[in-house]
Amino acid sequence: MKSEKYKICKTNLKGELYIVATPIGNLEDITLRAIRILKEVDMIAAEDTRHTLKLLNHLGISKPLISYHRHNEEIKTDELINKLEEGKKIALVSDAGTPVISDPGGEIVREAIKNSIKVIPVPGACAAITALVASGIDAKEFTFIGFLPQNKKNRNDKLEQIRNAEVTTILYESPHRLLKTLQDLKSIVENRQIVLARELTKIHEEYIIGTIEQIEQIVQPPKGEYVIVIDRTENTRKETMLKELNQLSLEEQYKHYERNGLDKKEIIKQIAKDRNVNKNEIYQQFIKK
Ligand code: SAM
Repeated sequence: MKSEKYKICKTNLKGELYIVATPIGNLEDITLRAIRILKEVDMIAAEDTRHTLKLLNHLGISKPLISYHRHNEEIKTDELINKLEEGKKIALVSDAGTPVISDPGGEIVREAIKNSIKVIPVPGACAAITALVASGIDAKEFTFIGFLPQNKKNRNDKLEQIRNAEVTTILYESPHRLLKTLQDLKSIVENRQIVLARELTKIHEEYIIGTIEQIEQIVQPPKGEYVIVIDRTENTRKETMLKELNQLSLEEQYKHYERNGLDKKEIIKQIAKDRNVNKNEIYQQFIKK
């Protein structure tokens, strides 16, 4: 009981770490809560302080800024954890969108949790989700990969994974690597349906829809920021459809093909093919009824 009291007391002394999403282009894409938190915290840890300063000036907020980026993440994490231990409230922001997602922040979140410091997400824009919802590609299940690895072996492993993916895949890519990535996708993943979501929420926002090959020819030279949304493998789609069809009763499967305009002979042949049985077997089933 004694130690529990101590724990509550100790936790109360600690500060709070807010993971605050900022716009990915359009400055209006920031929540009212994010603005309030940025006003209330003691300091803001930012990936690029000059970049964040522009946003803060736009919002009329003046706050001490601490640089927190990929190259100083380890050292700065300790410094920020110390400040949180002293009771400070700190907001973490990245250059665009949600921190931690293909951006720095994971390290400090893990350290804060280890030290029983409260981590509070303040959700908002994220390029991956923004691209997915308007891509028209199945959003029921998806894998977010972020940037493909540069190391050849790791990159090929990921491309193989995409090739066999049974769900939608989302990639980030910078403009100067886009063509190389499209070429790699073409050679390993092959000609799949993709959507290139470009300059999301900005003036030149566009969605380029087509096969990898078609798109590779259009986007030269690539400009702006891109998210690549890749449809799942066609084989898997066919297999899933087949599985669903074979779970139907024979009558239901028959009706399905009838609705698709097939005649009796064609339907029996197709059902036999779907179920991998002799067509006479299916024929007999229908005579019996
Ligand atoms: N944390 C960010 C998020 O929540 O989306 C992602 C940061 S990551 C370093 C930057 C990449 O996100 C870009 O290279 C691009 O692939 C994607 N991205 C960011 N803003 C974008 C935008 N407005 N339009 C298209 N892609 C964008």
